[in-house]
Amino acid sequence: MKCRFCNSPSYVEIRYPKKINLCKEHFIEYFEDRVKKSIEKYKMLNKDEKILVAVSGGKDGHVAAWILKKLGYNIELFHINLGIKGFSDESLRAVKALAERLNTPLHVVDLKEITGKTIEDIRGKKCSICGITKRYLMNKFGYERGFDVIITGHNLDDEISFILNNVLNWNIRYLAKHEPVLPAHDKFLKKVKIFFEIDEYLILKYAEAEEIPFTTVKCKFAEGAITLKHRDYLNELEKERSGIKLQFLYGYMKNRHLFKVEEEDFQFRECEVCGMTSAGKICSFCRVWKLYKKKRKKENNKGK
Ligand SMILES: [Zn+2]
Ligand SMILES: [Zn+2]
Repeated sequence: MKCRFCNSPSYVEIRYPKKINLCKEHFIEYFEDRVKKSIEKYKMLNKDEKILVAVSGGKDGHVAAWILKKLGYNIELFHINLGIKGFSDESLRAVKALAERLNTPLHVVDLKEITGKTIEDIRGKKCSICGITKRYLMNKFGYERGFDVIITGHNLDDEISFILNNVLNWNIRYLAKHEPVLPAHDKFLKKVKIFFEIDEYLILKYAEAEEIPFTTVKCKFAEGAITLKHRDYLNELEKERSGIKLQFLYGYMKNRHLFKVEEEDFQFRECEVCGMTSAGKICSFCRVWKLYKKKRKKENNKGK
């Protein structure tokens, strides 16, 4: 198979909306153009914004940083060392390699230094705690350092597997909430998913074409997550019906207003422990890491 635009051999087959084969060079051009169009379509970013990109060591965040830098955005990198054996060291190595290649500042935050514990030390739902932790630390860091936007590498496959999961469980409240741009409010920074409608497979092919450093080591706690299974059969479906993943996403975007529930005049407040924006007295981060205990201890010691 030859590239549609030149005589070079095909590097990737694009199957939707039209079936075309592209060589490496033309695929790089195609991919960057798709991302650029997505950024424009959803009015995701401005060139004068100070952007913090979340990098875990995996391909998605790394490709996001790479392409934004290439497109001329003002980015810095943010990484959390979660202290997971066999995973965190490898991740940190990949993130450092990326920062060097991009010549971009890298900020590393160590979970154990902040909470006194790692994810390993916690019992129960490690994946959801990990999610809460990452979102919180990244937002706090960005907020305190004057960033305007946080970028995460969530892609089309992530989004539709979350949406499908929320349909299967009829989580109506969450069903209205998948969006490419989450505006800033209170002490929450604006959050953007530049790969909202970009297929994970294409991100991987771009990473390989551009020789972007990343690690394929997966977190052991993520194994067996149900959303990983959703991903697999959505990709099976895609093989038989090209475009079904994107159509599912577009259909969702058109209809998600149906799931908006009237929330009573909800007032956010400041967490009593850390002062960041919270839905309750104590934010979920301070709750799962039991930081209120630390604070109480400090106060008791002061009183003596
Ligand atoms: Zn070509
Ligand atoms: Zn808090």
